[in-house]
Amino acid sequence: MKITVLSGGVGGARFARGLRALVPTAGITVIANTGDDMWLHGVRVCPDLDTLMYTLGDAVHEEQGWGRRDESRRTSDDLAAYGLGWEWFTLGDLDLATHLARTELLRGGLPLSQVTARLAERWAPGVTLLPMTDDEVETHVLTADGRDLHFEEWWVRHRAALPAARFVQTNLATATPAPGVLAAIADADVVVVPPSNPVVSVGTILAIPGIRDALRTTAAPVVGISPMIGGAPVRGMADACLTAIGVETSALAVARHYGRRPDGVLDAWLVDDRDADAAHALESEGWAAGSANTLMTDVPTTARIAADALALVGALP
Ligand code: GDP
Ligand code: CA
Repeated sequence: MKITVLSGGVGGARFARGLRALVPTAGITVIANTGDDMWLHGVRVCPDLDTLMYTLGDAVHEEQGWGRRDESRRTSDDLAAYGLGWEWFTLGDLDLATHLARTELLRGGLPLSQVTARLAERWAPGVTLLPMTDDEVETHVLTADGRDLHFEEWWVRHRAALPAARFVQTNLATATPAPGVLAAIADADVVVVPPSNPVVSVGTILAIPGIRDALRTTAAPVVGISPMIGGAPVRGMADACLTAIGVETSALAVARHYGRRPDGVLDAWLVDDRDADAAHALESEGWAAGSANTLMTDVPTTARIAADALALVGALP
């Protein structure tokens, strides 16, 4: 069985880990958002790819959801002593090794997809990890007061508190999906949109020319899981992103934002039990929809959520 997942960082990574536990023999491909990537101190940082790699490689800082367990910050503290660096963005010592390794391989001429595969060898994630594109597409936030900030600066430094007017992706027009991305969608038995940020994680992946069409036309069913529970994000500030694009923060509104195929990208939508009304509304519109517990508290619970999602489209092995 071949399962393809479109993922941001923490939400997508936790879901992928539960899915892997549910169907350990499946061929799982995770297509990761790389719009949050940036150059810092001359090294390439790929937050969502790293969160996936560490989570699936059993090295993640579990409570934090991202970064390495047993991390230290001696290097970034020492950079600060020179008056350099960004006090708002932490580069842990162990994490920095990942960025240095990635940068060395990129400088050696490898595309990000091959670099990602090379770094993942060490972590044995049990899935094929693909960046959405090898091109440097970065999400920027145009704020209501006229600033143009890298997404991570808006998110981490300003805690998404500066009202966003628009999200734009650099280099989008010339970007192409990374090798393997379109085939992973076309050849899948089922495609899953996990609980990830619908605007700056999944939305960015869908914006890469060709990916949205691949979802519309794949023979595989496409099922999503709501990242909103009871009208609020579970973690993070996705509500600030949704507000900026004029979408209400609710399980129902996010489903409608993705849309139902063939015009949209989904066939089915799993919401939390607290939002069962949304499932009923969607069902009456012809969606396959259902409700369940969707809080990914641990791996067995998350495996159960993955099973509930696959069952909605009859893809539970
Ligand atoms: P990021 O790149 O680290 O922000 O991670 P993602 O884009 O993958 O996921 C962020 C989204 O996942 C947020 O909108 C959260 O509301 C959602 N999320 C996180 N944990 C859970 C959970 O346990 N259950 C559900 N349903 N959504 C979650
Ligand atoms: Ca992210």
